[in-house]
Amino acid sequence: MENKRPLIYFILIVACLSMTGVSLAAFSKETRHFRIMQFEGTISGAELDEAGRILEAVYADVTSYLGIEGYKSACIEARVCGRDSLRASARRYGSVITFHIEDADPATLRHELTHILIDKYFSNAPLWFHEGVAQYVEYARPADIGKFPKYPGRLSFAKLNNNFQKDDTKEEEDAYLYSYGIISYLIEKYGEDKLKSMFGKSGHFSGRFKKAYGKTLNDFEDEMDKLW
Ligand SMILES: [Zn+2]
Repeated sequence: MENKRPLIYFILIVACLSMTGVSLAAFSKETRHFRIMQFEGTISGAELDEAGRILEAVYADVTSYLGIEGYKSACIEARVCGRDSLRASARRYGSVITFHIEDADPATLRHELTHILIDKYFSNAPLWFHEGVAQYVEYARPADIGKFPKYPGRLSFAKLNNNFQKDDTKEEEDAYLYSYGIISYLIEKYGEDKLKSMFGKSGHFSGRFKKAYGKTLNDFEDEMDKLW
């Protein structure tokens, strides 16, 4: 009698893998700075190549904006979702960036990649700095801070950091807006080079800020409070 066991095992393995979300058709490629892989849904080889081209172009933009070299090898994992995946806009977790191939918007990717690169250079940058710089690089220009509405209450960096946790509220919206405003102010008033110089310094965030701007974060917080 013909032995059908290997076929049954194969079917069982495929069924298990599909239940855990692992596709046998998954494939990947490596570019200079990214390990790019099919993550969810169907991706063609050409689409994976296209994802690599977009990511490297975005990477060149971000490192040029921040005046940094970045990674020397393919250290960033990019998970690309296919046309049949319901996943929405780009997300990042640690140094992993996940996005939909049909929604590979360079501005959003610049934002997420900026977070990854800030993490590489600062282990302890506050959220207002993270989100402020990420938006500056995303929009590729500083905000028009003269048109900002008065900040409700006293502007406090600790409060801004905290308000990023308040999902879908006016406080969260303001935390993004004013963080973008703070970075825009730093660039317009003190020049882009000072901001870039923070990436080249060592030590804790507050010490690096003082080295670059010659003032403490507390003094700078007062300065921003007076502005809005
Ligand atoms: Zn962000």
